[in-house]
Amino acid sequence: MQWCQYRDGQLLAEDVPLAELAAEFGTPTYVYSKAAILAAYGEFADAARGHDTLVCYALKANANLAVIELLARAGAGFDIVSIGELMRVQAAGGDPAKVVFSGVGKSKADIRAALAAGVRCFNVESEAELRRIDAIAGEMGRRAPVSLRVNPDVDAGTHPYISTGLRENKFGIAHERALAAFQFAASLEHLDVQGIDCHIGSQITEIAPFLAAVDKLLELATRVEAAGIALSHLDFGGGLGIDYQGEVPPSRRALLEAVFERLAAHPLGRRYAVMFEFGRAIVGNAGLLLTRIEYLKSTPVKQFAIVDAAMNDLLRPALYDAWHAVRPVVRRAEEPVVYDVVGPVCESGDWLARERSLSVVVGDLLAIESAGAYAMVMSSNYNARPRAAEVLVDGDRALLVRERETPESLYALERRLPPPG
Ligand SMILES: *Cc1c(COP(=O)(O)O)cnc(C)c1O
Repeated sequence: MQWCQYRDGQLLAEDVPLAELAAEFGTPTYVYSKAAILAAYGEFADAARGHDTLVCYALKANANLAVIELLARAGAGFDIVSIGELMRVQAAGGDPAKVVFSGVGKSKADIRAALAAGVRCFNVESEAELRRIDAIAGEMGRRAPVSLRVNPDVDAGTHPYISTGLRENKFGIAHERALAAFQFAASLEHLDVQGIDCHIGSQITEIAPFLAAVDKLLELATRVEAAGIALSHLDFGGGLGIDYQGEVPPSRRALLEAVFERLAAHPLGRRYAVMFEFGRAIVGNAGLLLTRIEYLKSTPVKQFAIVDAAMNDLLRPALYDAWHAVRPVVRRAEEPVVYDVVGPVCESGDWLARERSLSVVVGDLLAIESAGAYAMVMSSNYNARPRAAEVLVDGDRALLVRERETPESLYALERRLPPPG
């Protein structure tokens, strides 16, 4: 992470020493870089320039209002999966007309609110959902813009929990049933069929699966158009990977250029507007989790660094066996020791990093890197742990963008029993 480098033996976030952030805001704290977020989005936006393309940010990766607002000001669209996420876009000043609404389980209330707000498109995942959106649009006297999410049956070569484009996944409409679904959608009076959508997985580090999806969508578009249904856009979802542990994904520009080139080689490809929905590739390497070592514990077989962050703050290691780089905030000269970095939660699955060689003493701060995506959003209050603070750095300034929760706030919605007797 370029924005996080040592200067005189001290780790900085942009130009702010992480030790100062810990002193001011406490730990554990998520730290995000404004420059890194804007640079990542900017690479997509630059590559898309001159093409009829909307680059959406998939809110589920990191839904902090400040992150959304930065991206809204930079011109991003948004991919949402719940009405809560739509409300976040609106609360951050984003434009609902640039919002695409994905997800397999949209409720009636979700659909009503999204129609009222005027979202750009519903990415629909089943015939039943088409029927539901049509009925609600009818009641509201509207026509709902829809695209059908198809399952292109492409193997994105990624972790089973984050691969979504295979036949056995719950997502999308099977490729061979897609034409019938389009015909059904086109027959419904209150739907405006606009496009085809897919999302083949996450943390994809090759261009080939994306191009395979482009080919599948173009092949389907040809059949849909031949059936007399005119389309206006193709949405290739998100999924571009980042460097956690030396992975070398294609650059953002290389991916978009390869997609545009593939589209341009097809007679229909040039006609369509194109959408993307990137999450991880925009924010993943723009964040870190700052935590302090509470104890160093020795057992006959292992050394543990017990820190004040835990699986409730950063679930990815426990959930996906994910690897995050860990760096001490202060460089020490002592011989490093191999530690498992673990949290205080009462679960053996509560680990953040395993077998890391670290030169540290009790009280030292650690930066757990690549924690901008699928990190804070997956946090919980397990063990009655207040959620971490979130801070956005901008050059030598730091802005608190979410206060640390208080223990009282965690039970504020709960009720005592009536008095006994
Ligand atoms: C999760 C998701 C994304 C974003 O995925 P990334 O891997 O973070 O880019 C985009 N679209 C849909 C439908 C998703 O579910």
